[in-house]
Amino acid sequence: MNSGANKDTVIADFQQWCSENDVWLDDRLEIIYSPDADIHIRTKNQSISASTTVSYIPKRSILSTKSCSLAETLPQDAEYTHGLGAQLMLALALYKEQLLGSKSRWHGYLQSLPDFVDLPMLWQDGCKDAKEAVTWLVGTEVEKEMSVGSLLARARRFYEAMSRQFLPQDASVGGFTKAFTLVSSRAFIVDAYHGLSMVPIADAFNHSQDNHVHIETDFDVCPLCGALYECPHDDGPKLETHVGQNHYDSCYEMVVNSPIPRHSEVFNTYGETLGNAALLARYGFVLDVNENDCITWSMEELTDDADLAATFQLAAYEWESEKSLRPRCESSNLVYYSESFTVDGDGKVSHRLWLLCFLTYQRNAPSSPSPMSVLEAQIACEAGMDVDASLIPAVSAIASAVSTLCCTRKAKIKKLSDLGPDADIGEILDGLSDDRPRTRLAVSYVLTEISILECCLAEWSDLVLPHPS
Ligand SMILES: [Zn+2]
Repeated sequence: MNSGANKDTVIADFQQWCSENDVWLDDRLEIIYSPDADIHIRTKNQSISASTTVSYIPKRSILSTKSCSLAETLPQDAEYTHGLGAQLMLALALYKEQLLGSKSRWHGYLQSLPDFVDLPMLWQDGCKDAKEAVTWLVGTEVEKEMSVGSLLARARRFYEAMSRQFLPQDASVGGFTKAFTLVSSRAFIVDAYHGLSMVPIADAFNHSQDNHVHIETDFDVCPLCGALYECPHDDGPKLETHVGQNHYDSCYEMVVNSPIPRHSEVFNTYGETLGNAALLARYGFVLDVNENDCITWSMEELTDDADLAATFQLAAYEWESEKSLRPRCESSNLVYYSESFTVDGDGKVSHRLWLLCFLTYQRNAPSSPSPMSVLEAQIACEAGMDVDASLIPAVSAIASAVSTLCCTRKAKIKKLSDLGPDADIGEILDGLSDDRPRTRLAVSYVLTEISILECCLAEWSDLVLPHPS
């Protein structure tokens, strides 16, 4: 919320703006502001059942690079249509509207947004607490998500390149960066025309994995003009013009997917598969329990051997075409099916990471069992059943490789290496006072990664055979 503004006035102005722009919110919901939770949405004294549409948001009311006051002049290069490029361009559009003040047609909406969101990308140049927090994130998944330093540097380079042409004299790189944090934490991809957009009302709902509402849009509109039905840009045979086209075809909708009790906060989801690393990097918060948390590796982090990487691609393709792979992974307590190199929150290893460990073993092994026969042997070992003795060295070698990966990964978390093996991170967290919120957030996140890696180490330790002397 903009500093100094009276909160009641801000919400009243936002409601007024919504009504002038035909943005409709169900009467059973209300927009609330509280100092600790910022703007959010709650039910009044009635519950709302599933499948109800609780908000219609006209497409013309959203703020995108196609609708903003700079729309005619902004560069349309492909690099700005997705990913970081799209975020930077939308931040430019948003910041321009903010600088227009009451002259912007989104003024009433913009007033309802916070000044900025306290994302880790801003921490490097921040106060002592912020700088300390950054040191904890070095070597973690959060750093990978956003490369703490380079994201801010890229935002600044973009600003230097664009500001003179598109922004007034009173613009500043600090203001642009704040606008960027709003885009990072609040924008949605709505359709093929508007792309990444600031969506009034939709962005006032907070995030939960057990969300009540979600946004529904027709993504496949014409990317050139936004038309949902027939338009001059259609290729090939024309689609039939839709006769029943009505007001609602020109709206995005917020739809209830799980019943909402009365007198409770209503949650949207920003992405059902996001772990705490992504939530912290992009949205500035973590969940107490997040079942999507995992540790990831890239192929480059795992091996610099091009032959092994090529062998892996072929072996993965062949193995994944076996119908029994998924069900066999499901019967393992230590392996799960995932086409990435990951360890999940239960310490399970993705089948691809497992396969790479297997292939590394196989290169030096005299016999060549198939990956499936070794996985079967491992599942039998897990269950304490008898196993073909010739396969045990392979199972043990894979378990040993997994353990090494976890230890190496723990050592990569720079703060852990600095503090030494005896450091009690939980104790460090307990010793941090409430005036160190960012460090507390970062340390608690690091604890999550440690617990995943230690869980994996413990789960796999039984399969590692003592090295023959
Ligand atoms: Zn078109």
